[in-house]
Amino acid sequence: MVLSHATIVIPLRIFMPELPEVETILQSMKPALTGQKFTSIDINRPDLRTPFPSGLSTIPLNETVVRLRRRAKYILLDFQHGWSLLIHLGMSGRLFIDSATRNIPLRRHEHLIFWTDNGCRIGLVDPRRFGMVGLFQTDQENQYPPLKHLGLEPLSDDFTTDQLSSICASTRVPIKNVLLDQRRIVGLGNIYVCEALFKAHIHPARTADSLTYEELHHLRRFITDILQSAIAAGGSTLRDYVHTDGQPGAFQELHLVYDREGEPCPNCAPESRPSHIRRMMQSGRSTFFCPHCQKI
Ligand SMILES: [Zn+2]
Repeated sequence: MVLSHATIVIPLRIFMPELPEVETILQSMKPALTGQKFTSIDINRPDLRTPFPSGLSTIPLNETVVRLRRRAKYILLDFQHGWSLLIHLGMSGRLFIDSATRNIPLRRHEHLIFWTDNGCRIGLVDPRRFGMVGLFQTDQENQYPPLKHLGLEPLSDDFTTDQLSSICASTRVPIKNVLLDQRRIVGLGNIYVCEALFKAHIHPARTADSLTYEELHHLRRFITDILQSAIAAGGSTLRDYVHTDGQPGAFQELHLVYDREGEPCPNCAPESRPSHIRRMMQSGRSTFFCPHCQKI
């Protein structure tokens, strides 16, 4: 497939892409890259957050990309010869996919460019360089340091109420912190956790082991629903995110509590005296919640 126009996937401001954005980016890359080969790779600096792997200019070359997939917020490209390329966009990373025939000049902070045999130019731009690129042997994935301690995938069949229950049963850490802990469950950022806890009527400071099985069942369902809605809306971090057609992501309009401090709670607003959304700090991050709907 040869692209006839630019496909731009880009968080506009400094705002860490969360799981739905990464999934959306991945879906945009699949048609351009699946079944293709890299014919050359331009490496314009030695590192991002970590040094580029030493085999980056040779190992992926002329090998067919058999699969693109996601693990947590890592984009993984599996090659036919048993190696995989890992890309993490950090806080400010963007991938630009263009037709090679457009003769795009080097962009600012464009640290890597992959050229494919179907005429694509894939540029990795990362002004703050918190991203990373890695290479590993696909069958060694469980030993590869960035991936080996990752927890459950919330969009996989493994994310069941029983699994969530066993994760929560053994810890007195606040449920919000448990959901943000990548060693337990991956890819749930602050926005999605606030929204899921609000929908499940669970106070973010409750200890994980205090939640009933029924509460965890609702919470799990809302987590899955919210992530799927955000992906359907084209990723989420919304005002900061533009998808392939250049339109801003629409998921921000679906946020019920996140960044809405002081606004009437959308759940109890039909009552004569609705509560207002409050903000509190947990482990250095803002939590938004309704004190009426989410009792401690
Ligand atoms: Zn409320």
